[in-house]
Amino acid sequence: MPSSTVPYIGRFAPSPSGPLHMGSLVAAMASYLDAKVHQGAWLLRIEDLDYDRNVDGADAAILASLLRCGMAWDGEATWQSRRLPLYQAALRRLQDDGLVYACGCSRKEIQDSVLQAGLAKNGAAVYPGTCRHGLAHGKAARALRLRVPEGAAAVYGFVDRWHGEVRQDLASEVGDFIVLRGDGYWAYQLAVVVDDADQGITQVVRGADLLDSTPRQLYLQDVLGLPHPGYLHVPVVNNAFGEKLSKQTGALAFDTGTSPAELLASALLPAARFLGLDLQAGSLDDFWRRAIPAWAQRLSRQP
Ligand code: GLU
Repeated sequence: MPSSTVPYIGRFAPSPSGPLHMGSLVAAMASYLDAKVHQGAWLLRIEDLDYDRNVDGADAAILASLLRCGMAWDGEATWQSRRLPLYQAALRRLQDDGLVYACGCSRKEIQDSVLQAGLAKNGAAVYPGTCRHGLAHGKAARALRLRVPEGAAAVYGFVDRWHGEVRQDLASEVGDFIVLRGDGYWAYQLAVVVDDADQGITQVVRGADLLDSTPRQLYLQDVLGLPHPGYLHVPVVNNAFGEKLSKQTGALAFDTGTSPAELLASALLPAARFLGLDLQAGSLDDFWRRAIPAWAQRLSRQP
């Protein structure tokens, strides 16, 4: 459990690629409950840096859904697209420290070199370091990559409050990773670390699809001189095909035109059940009154 002497600041950080659906509701609920159990603040940050995936109006729809569910955030919501100078400043620091280099590899070239560098456990191609010592003659830069350490320094471990010990060797399982794409898109890994630190986040509660991003984020925090928050990754909701529920896999918004009673029955209670909270509730208020202590109890059973 996080120490009670440190003020708790948590957050929910949805990408506005569609409305809130069951998968994102589970992450929102877990982060909200965790903040409430610790009498902490719960901030809302819209992660809208993937301009190809942003859907017009999805941010407003997500905010409205959270409020309808009874999850009000503290302070003003923030949008990553309004915080670009912060990412630029972080990149400058990494560049000044000689940790960043230009990479000219295409996705296909990296895939082709997989035989040499191997696949990460999650099936992603490990970047083989082709451009580490400079761009090959005639190649244009396609991205900026951050050097990961070598040897024992590449192994990052942490204790996840749901999953227990997690370890990853950044050198053999990830490789040097992108912080800025050639088309100007900031990488999620850099932006999330900068924002979590800037907003004083002490506990990150999110879906387990990001479990294997966390070692990269811990490393970035180290090289940027930022503190490590605590982490808790809740299981992700899969669809009938075993794919993570997301806008891309056709997840539907759950609350369009439903009454509070229907919202409770069709969304909040099932999401809570998914998190291992077996609750009965007659109203939204009643739901949250019972869910907060139930979450504290649920966590006491995790490692
Ligand atoms: N924006 C990410 C998503 O919607 C979440 C990132 C995070 O919580 O660190 O999946």
